[in-house]
Amino acid sequence: MADCSLDLLGSSNPLSHLSLLSSWDHRRVPPCPALQGTPLSATLSLVMSQCCQKIKDTVQKLASDHKDIHSSVSRVGKAIDRNFDSEICGVVSDAVWDAREQQQQILQMAIVEHLYQQGMLSVAEELCQESTLNVDLDFKQPFLELNRILEALHEQDLGPALEWAVSHRQRLLELNSSLEFKLHRMHFIRLLAGGPEKQLEALSYARHFQPFARLHQREIQVMMGSLVYLRLGLEKSPYCHLLDNSHWAEICETFTRDACSLLGLSVESPLSVSFASGCVALPVLMNIKAVIEQRQCTGVWSHKDELPIEIELGMKCWYHSVFACPILRQQTSDSNPPIKLICGHVISRDALNKLINGGKLKCPYCPMEQNPADGKRIIF
Ligand SMILES: [Zn+2]
Repeated sequence: MADCSLDLLGSSNPLSHLSLLSSWDHRRVPPCPALQGTPLSATLSLVMSQCCQKIKDTVQKLASDHKDIHSSVSRVGKAIDRNFDSEICGVVSDAVWDAREQQQQILQMAIVEHLYQQGMLSVAEELCQESTLNVDLDFKQPFLELNRILEALHEQDLGPALEWAVSHRQRLLELNSSLEFKLHRMHFIRLLAGGPEKQLEALSYARHFQPFARLHQREIQVMMGSLVYLRLGLEKSPYCHLLDNSHWAEICETFTRDACSLLGLSVESPLSVSFASGCVALPVLMNIKAVIEQRQCTGVWSHKDELPIEIELGMKCWYHSVFACPILRQQTSDSNPPIKLICGHVISRDALNKLINGGKLKCPYCPMEQNPADGKRIIF
């Protein structure tokens, strides 16, 4: 192809293409002796030259397209080199990888928990065996149950999830969960999809909605309305959205969220949260490392249990409120908790202790004098 295109591009005489084509023909079909040496008619010559021009244009276009793609592809390699630092280890203290047994067990436990949460039960079991990690059956049980029900839901089997939701009804209601209603609704919709012969069954199943009448009145009205179109077929009615497959994904999501919060588990495993946070923090840490090295102040970051600066991880990683003392500009902690003064202003205990003068405290915001012992600890 490359040789042929070069030849075509290199010549402007249409007849030279003809010789090229005829030499190509020779290899397959024996030439007809009667036509050899016969000059081409004017029309044929024109058609041939037009054809050759077309081929030439196409090849030129291909060549320029290829050039474009090649330049983009070659840029990918450079982008990878630029964005991936081969020395990521530099931001992690070597001590982290020290094979202290306790640390290793914590890491293994986090991996096992993640695998259980992802439903990879056999891999988790294997890891437990190989690392001689002893996992309590009580620890495993919630994950096993969760995965059994989720697997059934993925196969569009509502039975186990309904059973679970009914047995946990009270606690689900306390959570303001609509899981049980959504499961009953899905069962009802499946009956509707069965056509007129399922009408009686659907009507009798509708009594399951009774406990949810107040909270889900609108949705129940929609389902009752859809009964009118049962004979015509739900898929041809204005209610065809009820048959949408996205309802299954929604149910799986609701079940995972509510069951996790009922079982005291986080929706995402601690390992995946740590990993995601690490991915956000890593570029910042790499920059800090570069700055520290440039200014030759390597002692600044000791790698102990803290980071050299605060790194913003986004709202998703906010788990609780924090309070920073307006006087000392430090985040409060258990040893230095926030204290509310009687005037209503809040400062940290360390700041309060520093402001005491002659057994009295003058609020730094309003000049109210007060007894330091009147301050009350605030818990967020
Ligand atoms: Zn005050």
